[in-house]
Amino acid sequence: MPTKYVIVGAGPAAQAAAKAIRDIDREGDLILISREKEPPYSPVALPYLLNGELTNEALFQKGQNLLTELKAEFMGGREVIAVDAPAKQVAFTDGTRESYDRLLIATGATPAKSASLDPASESGKGFRTFADYGRIAGRVKTGAGFLINGGGLVATELAEKLSAAGCRVTLAVRSRLLRRYFSETIGNLLTDAFSGHGVTIESGVGLAGAEKKGNYYDAILTDGRTVKADALIVATGVEPSPLGDFPKVDGALLVDSHLKVTDDVYAAGDVAAAPDYTGQRRGTCPISPEAASQGRIAGRNMAGEAETYGGWIPGNYLRLFNLDLFSLGQTDESQVPDSLALSDEGPGYAIKIVLRGDTLAGLEAVGLKSIHPGVFRYLIARMVPLYAQRELLLTKPKETAIWLMSRHRASRR
Ligand SMILES: Cc1cc2nc3c(=O)[nH]c(=O)nc-3n(C[C@H](O)[C@H](O)[C@H](O)COP(=O)(O)OP(=O)(O)OC[C@H]3O[C@@H](n4cnc5c(N)ncnc54)[C@H](O)[C@@H]3O)c2cc1C
Repeated sequence: MPTKYVIVGAGPAAQAAAKAIRDIDREGDLILISREKEPPYSPVALPYLLNGELTNEALFQKGQNLLTELKAEFMGGREVIAVDAPAKQVAFTDGTRESYDRLLIATGATPAKSASLDPASESGKGFRTFADYGRIAGRVKTGAGFLINGGGLVATELAEKLSAAGCRVTLAVRSRLLRRYFSETIGNLLTDAFSGHGVTIESGVGLAGAEKKGNYYDAILTDGRTVKADALIVATGVEPSPLGDFPKVDGALLVDSHLKVTDDVYAAGDVAAAPDYTGQRRGTCPISPEAASQGRIAGRNMAGEAETYGGWIPGNYLRLFNLDLFSLGQTDESQVPDSLALSDEGPGYAIKIVLRGDTLAGLEAVGLKSIHPGVFRYLIARMVPLYAQRELLLTKPKETAIWLMSRHRASRR
């Protein structure tokens, strides 16, 4: 009998898992279930629809091709509400069930609900799915006003693309842009880039409420001021969307080092509380490359391998207004014992490295191209000694990191 693999989800974690399963098991039945009716896609691509860099057809093409290539069945528009682990079944909203031999929960996350706006109202919505895009797409036109509450990854990417589409964008940010990833110096460069492109940044404020006035909103900031906007987007973080009665950490499904939840049930991506690279912490690392990497390992293990997950490292790499931004590991030296922070700055670039003793704890950079995350990941996770190269790592990060990694690998052969 072929093994029946059921994956709940169709985002990056689910897609990577499906590929990994099919690489190993050519015969098994493979089913992807999504509560969205659209074919598999990545939410990372959604902002590119706003300024026309991507078409709807292109967004779904890859996912369509993947289903065909993997000979996978897609159950779109079906919401799973429960997992019956003893019976090895998932249950849908309409009361029907689907059985599985191996299950992957890759249900991702949903936007955190606004404390001040009714999440059911038009103004209280976040931006995570194609349907969320559909809700605001009609309002995207030259001169239209958008108020985005938040300063994280989603907020900044939406602001960039909406501004490129000719919209007037205001970001209401409690502290500063991308604070989770970057220190003040880089945060300030980022703020300058946004302001230089006409995005208004209201710092130190949140959203206290919104009043609908005909076809626009009066968004009320926490300092009492009002901003007029055609549309509002809440982008103040995400919450995991777990399924089943399984142990959780901060709302995410607790997984072991094989990304297993319990017998024959795995979880990966934004919904999984997985070990970090030190093995000391369990939590989520809600970024796309991590979701894909966890999906790949969970998929391999579902198909019979026993691959250990190396653990996530906090970080991100993105491009906003022609600025290449990179952050990996612990970049706040106050959180690192025995730390030393070194930095360098010049026209159009800035870099900071944080050392723990003689090893790299974290690095952040702006304006430096072609920094390869995998190489720095290796140095941080394996605590590679830096010796006399620590200064060089600052001035020639790419070359020095590759050299350190190669030497470390060679020494272990
Ligand atoms: C606008 C935007 C921009 C982003 N930009 C970046 C970026 O630049 N870089 C980066 O690294 N990350 C970015 N991210 C984050 C990234 O998209 C997520 O980390 C990634 O999508 C997580 O993948 P996932 O597969 O775990 O979950 P998701 O992509 O959220 O997929 C979850 C899937 O599960 C389905 N589902 C959920 N619940 C159920 C249920 N009960 N029943 C059936 N199906 C269900 C959903 O329909 C969906 O198909 C961005 C996110 C957004 C929204």
